[in-house]
Amino acid sequence: MDIEHVLENGNCHQCGVCVGVCPTNAIELRQDPNKGLFPTFLRESCTDCDLCHIACPGEEFDWDALQKDTFGEIPIDKDIGYVREFWSGYTKWTDIRRTAASGGIVSAILIAMLEKGEIDGAVVVKMDEDKPLQPKVYIARTREEVLAAQQSKYLPVPTGEILKPILKEEGRFAIVGLPCHIHGIRLAQQKMPRLKKRIVLLVGLICGFHPSFTNTTYLIRRAGVKNFDDIAEIRYRDETWPGGFNVIKKDGSNNILHPVQEFFWAHAVFERVRCATCTDAMAEFADIVCGDEWRGGGVPDRPDYKDGWSYIMTRTEAGTKVVDQMVNEGVLHVEPAARNQVKRGMLPTINLKKKLAFAYINIRKMLGLAVPNYHRLRPAKPLKLKNYLGAAIIMVVSTLFENKLINTLFLHVPTRFMSQYLRVMYKCLCDVEEIDSLTDFSYCETPEMESVIQDNHRLIASYANGDASQETVAGVTGDVEETVS
Ligand SMILES: Cc1cc2nc3c(=O)[nH]c(=O)nc-3n(C[C@H](O)[C@H](O)[C@H](O)COP(=O)(O)OP(=O)(O)OC[C@H]3O[C@@H](n4cnc5c(N)ncnc54)[C@H](O)[C@@H]3O)c2cc1C
Ligand code: SF4
Ligand code: SF4
Ligand code: SF4
Repeated sequence: MDIEHVLENGNCHQCGVCVGVCPTNAIELRQDPNKGLFPTFLRESCTDCDLCHIACPGEEFDWDALQKDTFGEIPIDKDIGYVREFWSGYTKWTDIRRTAASGGIVSAILIAMLEKGEIDGAVVVKMDEDKPLQPKVYIARTREEVLAAQQSKYLPVPTGEILKPILKEEGRFAIVGLPCHIHGIRLAQQKMPRLKKRIVLLVGLICGFHPSFTNTTYLIRRAGVKNFDDIAEIRYRDETWPGGFNVIKKDGSNNILHPVQEFFWAHAVFERVRCATCTDAMAEFADIVCGDEWRGGGVPDRPDYKDGWSYIMTRTEAGTKVVDQMVNEGVLHVEPAARNQVKRGMLPTINLKKKLAFAYINIRKMLGLAVPNYHRLRPAKPLKLKNYLGAAIIMVVSTLFENKLINTLFLHVPTRFMSQYLRVMYKCLCDVEEIDSLTDFSYCETPEMESVIQDNHRLIASYANGDASQETVAGVTGDVEETVS
């Protein structure tokens, strides 16, 4: 395998691990207008040491061998992987829960470990203050630094680049990452004992849909912001759970899109090729896994669901020890969750990875395109024609939406119409008996929410024509918050 081959043929996760392990800085991250931060290979600096190839999870990934190496066995449950404990919960530190993506579990664990001296640093990611459209991966050493990274960032994040300073510095580190980040880090740890010793905890985030960088620029334009130089900050899931995409301009104004729906459909049409061929939603190689507590595709039936609840799974002894300790010390509130409850809640996400990804890989193979090699890994269930249909739709739609002219045509198409795309996807993903509850979006289709959508779009349209002021946009934001909370 050649790293250039991975980069050029749609097999790169943009995980940054090759950048982190290269001893000669022969791989650099550069900002690409469509891909975001993407590795560039500098042949003249390469000594052919092969480290990047060994650690790269993009093209060669022997799933079963790494499962065996990590857990000592190949798990029987092909949907969700090797799990020791399942929980639902949130952090009892209410200030952290309020500002978190879900239940604030990830940040609370990192802060508690830092404050007790169990780790010297936590690898997290925030949006770069100087370059608001770029992520910044860093080692947090204080509560404030961990909190600056709260919330999910839905653009390519090269977490693996942080292996470079970790290789240089003594200490114990926890890393928060998506499943693909963790694949690369585990591979690098196999080869580099220093990384095995220094990285004491891998916290994985559940990851279903991951959009390309074009999704971010599209959402900014859909939110009515034309001049990107005016942007001070973007937040993907601002305000009450599950949150809405918000562009905060340098003049302090908010430009928020409809929570949930805008975000979901846009996510799904900008899917990256390597995400479409990715088979891991549940961070199957992490020590601890956290995600939103979805129930059957909808929200949990809890009175306080808008405060944020998380699913928590522990996979290793190290992960289980940390969660148990945090519960005993009053940092986390947890309730047991059944394996089937988690599976049902995550069904569309799991099917996306355990059915659609294989259909997508097969279609690419038929077209003579490069695909990742997962060795003996197979779909959890036999593929159906509709899985192929879903994969083909994703392939065509996501290719079309990468074109600026085409995605501009969809800038003002109403949310309700675009959300139908998600329903089609669910139908291609799930079996008939699963569909009814999964396509129930009624929780975000109240009359109040509908009026917010209409107002928002009217305003965005008029703002695009240059006849709406920022104050009015901020006014609509207020309505959104009021309606959601
Ligand atoms: C791209 C992406 C896709 C996701 N898809 C799903 C899904 O389909 N279903 C589901 O249930 N949950 C999904 N999640 C997980 C969910 O959004 C929350 O991140 C998770 O529940 C943890 O919430 P928290 O309140 O404990 O975290 P917080 O306390 O808010 O902390 C969030 C942590 O995540 C880290 N982080 C944020 N974005 C990234 C990123 N892109 N790469 C690496 N680290 C990051 C931050 O550094 C921070 O430490 C996704 C997250 C991301 C980033
Ligand atoms: S290590 Fe990650 S970023 Fe580097 S080429 Fe492989 S998949 Fe891409
Ligand atoms: S082969 Fe070695 S020197 Fe060359 S890019 Fe890869 S890690 Fe860097
Ligand atoms: S879907 Fe897979 S490849 Fe894409 S970001 Fe998530 S873990 Fe990485």
